[in-house]
Amino acid sequence: MTTVGILGGGQLARMLALSGAPLGLRFRVLDTVADACAGQFAPLIVGDYRDTAALAAFSAQVDVATFDFENVPAESAQWLSERAPVFPSPRALAVAQDRLAEKTLFRELGIPVPPFADVPDRAALDAAVAAIGTPCILKTRRLGYDGKGQFRIKSPADVAAAWDALGAQAATVGLILEGFVAFERELSVVAVRGRDGAFRTWPLTENWHVDGVLSASLAPARTDADLQARAIAHARALAEALDYVGVFALELFCRDGTLLANELAPRVHNSGHWTIEGSETSQFENHLRAVLGLPLGDTRMVGHACMLNWIGAMPAADAVLREPGGHWHDYGKEPREGRKVGHATLRADDTAALVDALARVGAALGREAQVAPVIAALR
Ligand code: AMP
Repeated sequence: MTTVGILGGGQLARMLALSGAPLGLRFRVLDTVADACAGQFAPLIVGDYRDTAALAAFSAQVDVATFDFENVPAESAQWLSERAPVFPSPRALAVAQDRLAEKTLFRELGIPVPPFADVPDRAALDAAVAAIGTPCILKTRRLGYDGKGQFRIKSPADVAAAWDALGAQAATVGLILEGFVAFERELSVVAVRGRDGAFRTWPLTENWHVDGVLSASLAPARTDADLQARAIAHARALAEALDYVGVFALELFCRDGTLLANELAPRVHNSGHWTIEGSETSQFENHLRAVLGLPLGDTRMVGHACMLNWIGAMPAADAVLREPGGHWHDYGKEPREGRKVGHATLRADDTAALVDALARVGAALGREAQVAPVIAALR
């Protein structure tokens, strides 16, 4: 009997546990809160990620450990890795936790990135804004996600407000200034690398964000073979440089046929949720296969898929359940503003049928604005 430990007990851990059940796997989840939604399916240990007593109880019960949450302190991941195999490695996690280290690695590997600069203090911010130009974005180096910890600087007049908003964090989590990319599209490569170095990706996914939070994903993305090949080559270069084991996502901006890397998510990713019903092997199952050293599953698509995120509260399920290719995921969370509480995936044999399904679901749920950009992309 193999037990997989997961640090973080949110919806990603929940979907990992669900996908691991047919493989005969057991799970233990460590989270800071007692109502973490993965706890509905796997025994939950409640404790702080820095609490070595909780980490010791956790590590004693697992054969291998992985993450649903990338901001687990690097020291905790390191501590754990001395007691149990941990995938991805603490080093890969540490790079992906720090936007500056991550972008520096992208550049070293020849992966194009927007201009960026470290911002240790106010003078450095002024210098960076002068060098990079406006518009640009000031972001925290660490602990930012879903657009949190970001300030858009539209003109030099905004610099003081940006410093007021984030300056105090320069000394704690660090700050980075990035050039603003007027992208046409956002794409992600969801990829998996096994313990033996086997590497696979799912077809590129196209993503739409609202207020920095993923709203919809479409797979396959509208792309040509050349763009797809470049994106996959970037993901492979990263995976090999980090000796990465497991699933990760590389988020990319696309402008005039060029790709610029935004960030690396060292875990299963929201833009890969469609793989549960839309591909031969889901990102969740392949992550488990990778960390356990099992053969990776085929990543080919089994239709065209669109995932819609439910933020704040769940809509009524009926309209999606009525669709022939409609699939419903309720994460079992309390509704709360801005919280990811569930998603739906619509799958169809061709893009025309997917457009029709999206239009029906959008109208039934009053979510026309959420489905509109996907429908426009498909037409
Ligand atoms: P992040 O937390 O870096 O993934 O940012 C969340 C979202 O903010 C991205 O998916 C983009 O929609 C937007 N964003 C972040 N960085 C940039 C940038 N340098 N230029 C334009 N948009 C950005």
